[in-house]
Amino acid sequence: MPEIQANCAPQTTGRPFPWFCPRCRKKEVRPAVIRYQTERLHEGCLVAVDIPNLEVPKCANCGEQVFNYTTDEQILAAVCAQETARQMSPIANSD
Ligand SMILES: [Zn+2]
Repeated sequence: MPEIQANCAPQTTGRPFPWFCPRCRKKEVRPAVIRYQTERLHEGCLVAVDIPNLEVPKCANCGEQVFNYTTDEQILAAVCAQETARQMSPIANSD
């Protein structure tokens, strides 16, 4: 599995807000913090993850959430942190 080089990340965060909304076309997309629950594949297993404070660009007009590379990085980091905590727990590591 190739590892993602953190210091080679594209500059997706450099665009100044507000952005144009891809749904309603208004210039109302600004950073928001939301609670987000999803499932991600982690080392071959589907893992449910609950992120209480995901930063995601969101349209103030229609509510569209504009997920991007930065958003995805936060989700992957949350999955990784959760699974690391699980593996370090002596109860879960019973096999
Ligand atoms: Zn919109």
